[in-house]
Amino acid sequence: MCGIVAYVGHRDAYPLIIKGLKRLEYRGYDSAGVALNTGDGLQVYKKKGKVSDLEASLTDENLKSNVGIGHTRWATHGEPSDRNSHPHYSHSGNLAIIHNGIIENYGAIKLNLQNKGYEFRSDTDSEVFVNFIEDIQKETYSSIEEAIRLAMQEVVGAYAIVVMSKEHPDQLIAARKGSPLVIGVGEQEYFFASDATPIIEYTNNVIYLDDFQIAVVRNGELTVKNIENIIQSPYIQHIEMELEAIEKGGYEHFMLKEIFEQPRSVKDCLRGRVNADEGHLVLGGLREYLDDIAKSQRIVIVACGTSWHAGLVAEYIFEELARIPVEVEYASEFRYRNPIIQEGDVVIAISQSGETMDTLAALELAKSKGAIILGICNVVGASIPRISHAGAYTHAGPEIGVASTKAFTAQVSVLTQMAIAVARRKGSLHEDTFRRFLFELERIPEKIEKVLKNAEKVEQISALFSNARNFIYLGRGLNFPVALEGALKLKEISYIHAEGYPAAEMKHGPIALIDEDMPVVFIATKDQSYEKIVSNIQEVKARKEGNCGSNGRRQANSNHGRPRH
Ligand code: GLU
Repeated sequence: MCGIVAYVGHRDAYPLIIKGLKRLEYRGYDSAGVALNTGDGLQVYKKKGKVSDLEASLTDENLKSNVGIGHTRWATHGEPSDRNSHPHYSHSGNLAIIHNGIIENYGAIKLNLQNKGYEFRSDTDSEVFVNFIEDIQKETYSSIEEAIRLAMQEVVGAYAIVVMSKEHPDQLIAARKGSPLVIGVGEQEYFFASDATPIIEYTNNVIYLDDFQIAVVRNGELTVKNIENIIQSPYIQHIEMELEAIEKGGYEHFMLKEIFEQPRSVKDCLRGRVNADEGHLVLGGLREYLDDIAKSQRIVIVACGTSWHAGLVAEYIFEELARIPVEVEYASEFRYRNPIIQEGDVVIAISQSGETMDTLAALELAKSKGAIILGICNVVGASIPRISHAGAYTHAGPEIGVASTKAFTAQVSVLTQMAIAVARRKGSLHEDTFRRFLFELERIPEKIEKVLKNAEKVEQISALFSNARNFIYLGRGLNFPVALEGALKLKEISYIHAEGYPAAEMKHGPIALIDEDMPVVFIATKDQSYEKIVSNIQEVKARKEGNCGSNGRRQANSNHGRPRH
């Protein structure tokens, strides 16, 4: 979820907001916009593309204002475009909103508002939010602040919002649930931002707004209330962090930050789709094609790198649950041969960016041969989703680290949801099992959190092996592709050679490589192959204990403990 910068005080808001948005560029975004309160009233300027493109387009405008809101968008609802960019006006033009996050129940709220005559200028959930606030305000004759509080009781999802009003030009109201929002407290001036990077050159005093809190700046005074309308005394923190450290959320590098974002990115991927209590699983982007997929004779998954591994995990899940044969192909191989694709085959392309060249070309080829093509991508409106018949976004948020991490878990999450939805439609999944899966899916983010609590232990263990020259990763079942992904990650970021294998394949050759200098990582989850993987662990341990020389080195001319076939 992307960038928010807002200001109210004595300074010129526009250059401050533009500078702040540029500070947030490291987060990745697809469009930018600002709303100001100039002599001409509440004015919104927004544009697809870079903050500098927005800036360049505004040279002739009157941009003088002491209050303003600015946004960099990472699209989740509606493709990146000028009209989908933030800020969004309310229907009457009285309010303007910037929003980070996803409103899950925007569809139902939008329908209701449309029935009341509201018209929408964008495809976003954010525009629904601002109109919902406006509608409540009208219906209850309440203040904007009260309307926001009431709206927050109805809206489901994640948000950080800042709202500006035509009628109260010196006022800003912000609220959050699930998306971060920081308030910078200056001398008779206040800053709002999605992290402290745009703020710290003006003040080191910040308030991290909590979930379900509403902050109002009016007449130079800040009031923070909770959703019960009770005034809070927020804790003002003094931050001394360097800009670079704030960008990385206090982590040493982006990859680590993204690894720790996974509880949230997986939650965002399930958001509005899975509801275990109600027994719902809805993938809106697949709805029209669910029958065709359920009836298909064959699914082919095309992808590259990490996405290919996510595809291999999906192969196990689809075949197990939906009983449809699945093949997983490297997109680069698929596109350069003459693949057999029959009418009605389903081809799924997986790509974080949605622009991976080989995957895009493979998908075009499959489409030309009559396949139903589906895209699983992270970037809304990218080329793959545009040419696909249907698909689902992973909603993992921008991935800055070069080695993919949170994109992988989000891809696996979305593919699992797809497999469950198809199996359900096919009738190959019993209601009880279906509900149990939904329940388990909802618990994944907290399980990831639990795993991440072991970070220190993992670090200690890795220190022991940092001089190793080779690694082997082993797993069975769907943990085999996870082993491949583990090996790929190690290669990519540590330059240590690593291989992933299905654990049972070891004895057919690779076991020869194992001696006391070869770290072997097993992925041993408590599933049906747990006992078997424990036996594989024993096999590997025995290589050190039994089959190496007395000095622990491998003996020449031995068969290295390999069975002869
Ligand atoms: N869901 C909103 C949209 O698609 C906000 C996205 C964001 O966090 O940038 O416009």
